[in-house]
Amino acid sequence: TDALVAAARADELVGHGAPTPSGREQPWPNDPYAPGEQRYRVLRSVLTGDRSAQDVIAAVTDSGLRGMGGAGFPTGRKWQLVADQPAGLKYAICNADESEPGTFKDRQILADEPHLVLEGLLLGMVCTGAEQGYVFIRHEYGPEEHVLRAEIEALRAAGLLGTDVLGSGRTLHLDIFTSPGGYILGEESALIEAMEGHRGEPRNKPPFPGIHGLWGRPTLMNSVETFADVPVIVERGPQWWRDQGAGDSIGWKFFAVSGHVERPGVYCVPMGTTARALLDEAGGMAGGAALQAIQPGGASSNFLGPDQLDVPLDFGTLAEAGSMLGSGALVAIAEGTDLLAAATNVLRFFRNESCGKCVPCRVGSTKAHTLLTDALGDGGLDDTGRERVLELEMVMRKTSICGLGQVALGPVVSVLGMHRGGTTARMHPKDDDPEIDDKAGRN
Ligand code: SF4
Repeated sequence: TDALVAAARADELVGHGAPTPSGREQPWPNDPYAPGEQRYRVLRSVLTGDRSAQDVIAAVTDSGLRGMGGAGFPTGRKWQLVADQPAGLKYAICNADESEPGTFKDRQILADEPHLVLEGLLLGMVCTGAEQGYVFIRHEYGPEEHVLRAEIEALRAAGLLGTDVLGSGRTLHLDIFTSPGGYILGEESALIEAMEGHRGEPRNKPPFPGIHGLWGRPTLMNSVETFADVPVIVERGPQWWRDQGAGDSIGWKFFAVSGHVERPGVYCVPMGTTARALLDEAGGMAGGAALQAIQPGGASSNFLGPDQLDVPLDFGTLAEAGSMLGSGALVAIAEGTDLLAAATNVLRFFRNESCGKCVPCRVGSTKAHTLLTDALGDGGLDDTGRERVLELEMVMRKTSICGLGQVALGPVVSVLGMHRGGTTARMHPKDDDPEIDDKAGRN
């Protein structure tokens, strides 16, 4: 219950060690706090003047940390942008509205590391000059919301929230905003619309939330995982973080692994680990089945074939391979599965979750889904159907306002490429326009 969780933490905010709340024997590798150590050490060091806010931003920038919610925007740049806005009302928001099929790593982080999520959020507030922070949490994440509320109460009891925190002159308030529901609210500008009491639809960008966010004020928004990575980066230094990745990759990465694997679950591995190694970590294919395809970055990422299992899981390498890191969700699919049906199922999700604001997404996703389900019922897609799907995909990718419409048909097209014996990249050349990734907006 709330009282029990709060009682366990209100005392000194110390690390409890193994097992973690989810039953792990060891803390996750991004947790700098050993069992029995006082938590929020990094935040205290900034509030007491032992470390400057600018040093924190510099560490985050130098670490190369990028947004882990899907868009991959450089975190330090985002923090600096908000910090550079004129003094006055500013906000910071942790986007915990994780709701893409196959994506559940933030849920685990919230359960096991609420202290890191909130410490990262509070550091973001101190560094940018925001006095009010929010965690915008998916409404189905009741147990995790419960844990967060207890942690916030513990912070208040420890004097780390309120006015003039630790004599720093800083005011820090935290609240939780429970999402009214809907996948699109995880898109940063739709999230802000919902918090303002409007219909949850993405805004045209620019302006971006860092300049014109909640209530028109500069707003820092990052995902759960991004905020949780900040304390260890500041504590151990940006070089330490860079050294954690495999090969040229940077840091640690949480993945949700699901589909036809022996041990579906959340895994934290060095960024740049290959899909093959991650699948091994998850016990390999269930029942020793042969692998047909993976989706390396959640439902909106393109399918890759078994010949691409050794591609390092990282932003750049996956983009080069014709897919994306996305939300950090690897889905493995065994031989014998109808891949086009699986991709059409993904499209059905996006069709259902389209907010309907722009015509290409609203109409295009419905048309494409109808065309594909009819074709699947008739035994396959003929050349005319294929061309229509490709045309719809191109129009939606280039003209939709937000990431949902831009990527909704990507997985289907990648499967069509595989059916032709080509790779995803050959069938579906990535648009080099960097704005497309930026506009995905899932922090
Ligand atoms: Fe809404 Fe789709 Fe347009 Fe995004 S692309 S704003 S989800 S209609």
